[in-house]
Amino acid sequence: MSFPENQKKSIHHVVIIGGGFGGLYAAQTLAKAPVKVTLIDKRNFHVFQPLLYQVATGGLSPADISSPLRGILRHNKNTEILMGEVKNIDPQKQTVQLKYREISYDSLIVATGANHQYFGHEEWADKAPGLKTIEDALEMRRRIFIAFESAEKETDPKKREAWLTFAIIGGGPAGVELAGALAEIAHGTLTEDFRNINTKDAKIILIQSSDRILPSYAPLLSAQAQASLEQLGVTVLTGTRVTQMNNQMITVRHSDEFESIKARTVLWTAGMKASPMAQHLKECTGAELDKAGRVIVDRNFNIPGNENIFVIGDVANYAHQDGKPLPGVASVAMQSGKYVANLIKSLLQGKTISPFQYKDWGSLAVIGKHAAVVEMGFLKLSGFLAWAFWMFIHVFYLLEFDNKLIVMIQWAWSYFTMDKGARLITTPGEHPTIQLEEHDENLAQSPGLSQTIETVLLTEENAVVKNQDSNPTKSYVISNSGLD
Ligand SMILES: Cc1cc2nc3c(=O)[nH]c(=O)nc-3n(C[C@H](O)[C@H](O)[C@H](O)COP(=O)(O)OP(=O)(O)OC[C@H]3O[C@@H](n4cnc5c(N)ncnc54)[C@H](O)[C@@H]3O)c2cc1C
Repeated sequence: MSFPENQKKSIHHVVIIGGGFGGLYAAQTLAKAPVKVTLIDKRNFHVFQPLLYQVATGGLSPADISSPLRGILRHNKNTEILMGEVKNIDPQKQTVQLKYREISYDSLIVATGANHQYFGHEEWADKAPGLKTIEDALEMRRRIFIAFESAEKETDPKKREAWLTFAIIGGGPAGVELAGALAEIAHGTLTEDFRNINTKDAKIILIQSSDRILPSYAPLLSAQAQASLEQLGVTVLTGTRVTQMNNQMITVRHSDEFESIKARTVLWTAGMKASPMAQHLKECTGAELDKAGRVIVDRNFNIPGNENIFVIGDVANYAHQDGKPLPGVASVAMQSGKYVANLIKSLLQGKTISPFQYKDWGSLAVIGKHAAVVEMGFLKLSGFLAWAFWMFIHVFYLLEFDNKLIVMIQWAWSYFTMDKGARLITTPGEHPTIQLEEHDENLAQSPGLSQTIETVLLTEENAVVKNQDSNPTKSYVISNSGLD
C-alpha cells in the first residue's frame, strides 16, 4: 500500500470525522506530523463515556466528564476543528460534505462511534432511554429523580410502588454500573431526604438476556458482580428478555414464563449499533457491514478498495487478530486511532509499519462505591481492591485528556459523605414542574388505567402471548410482598 506521488509533494490533508476516543487519538498522533489535520465533530466536546452512568445518577455533572475539543487540541498547530455533522462522503471527489461547506481530503479517518440497539423495537427508545451521550445521561437523570418526586406525592400505594420500581435492561458493564449507582442512591444517599416515602423500598431490577451478567468476563467475576449487586439490593434477572413495554410496565420472558413488572422508569443499556455513517459508507464505497451495522475493514482499517479511507473504533469491525471482531471498547478505539495515524505518517515517507496488534489491557466494571471486577489476563480481582484500581485507571484517563483534578476531589468527597450533588431535574426547553404534572395527568387520564391498569394490560399481554406461543402462560406483577 502507498499514497500516489502527487500527494507526497503537497501538504497531505487528513480529515477525521469524530472526536471520540478513536478520532482524538488519531489527531494527537498526527500532532507533529507534516500534514494538515481537520477534525470534524457534531459536538464541540469529547465525552468520557465510561462515566456517563455517574451523570445519569447525579454523582457527577456533565462538565466533569467532558472536555472541549478545542481545549484538548489547542497545542496541535497543524489541526483545525470544525463543528458540524458530516452527512455525505464522496470517495471519487475525495470530499466530505458539511451543511454549508465541502472539504477535500487526501486521507479520511471515520471514527463516528456507535448508537443504541433496540433489536427491532425502535418504538421503545422513548420509553427506555439509552446511555450514549450527555443528553441521554441527563434524560436518565431527569427520569430517575422525577420518579422519586412523583412517588413522594403519590397517595395510592400501588402507583407509588410503580414509581419506585426501576428496570434496567442490559447486564453488560454499563447496566451493572448504573444498577449499582442507582441502588446506592435509593438505599443510601436519599434515605433522609423524603418524608412520605422510604427510598429503601425502591426496587432496582437488572434484566439480562444471557444466563449471566457481564458475559464477556470470566464466570467467577460475573458471579461476584451479581453477589455485589444483590448486596446493594438489586434484583438480577438473568436468562430474561423484554417482550413488551409501555409507559407503565414491561413484560419479560424467562424460558416460557411471562412476567409483567410495573415500573415507571425503564433504562436501556443493551446492545449497540454502528453510527449511520457506516450505512452511508456502504452506499458510497460498497463497504460490507456486519450484523451490528459496523464496517468490515481490512488489516489496515481500510474499506477494501479504498486505501485512503480508514474506519476505526466502534464503527469498525476488525476481525484479523483471532477471527472475532475486536470489542467496542475505548482501548480498541484509541489503539486503532493511533495505528492509522502512524500508518499515514509512514506511508507519506514511503515506508510501511508492522500490522496492527491490539493489546488487551483488560476489562473493569464498578459496582457501587466499594466493589468492582477487574480482569487482566490471569489477574482477576473483585471487591475493594478492584474498585481502587478502577478509580485509578479512570481518573488517569480523564487527566490525560484534561485536568480533571476536580473529579477526583468530588469523588473523594462523595465517597466519604455518600452525597450525590448533581441530583438536578432539568428539562431543556420546558418547565420541569409542568413536565412533572403532565406525567401525573397522563397516568390519571389514560382510559381505565388508574383503577384497572393491571387487568387491562395483563389481558392484552396474555392475548399476545397466546397468539405467539399457543401455550397458556402465567402473568403476574411484582409487588412489595413479592410476586403475586
Ligand atoms: C455508557 C457507556 C459506558 C462505557 N464504558 C466503557 C468502559 O468502562 N471501558 C471501555 O473501554 N469502554 C467503555 N465504553 C465504550 C467506549 O466508550 C467506546 O468504545 C468508545 O467511546 C468508542 O470510541 P469511538 O471513537 O469509536 O466513538 P465515540 O467515542 O462514540 O465518538 C464518536 C464521535 O463521533 C461524532 N460523530 C458521530 N457521527 C458524526 C457525524 N456524522 N459527523 C460528525 N461527528 C460525528 C460523535 O459526536 C462522537 O464525538 C462505554 C460506552 C458507553 C456508552
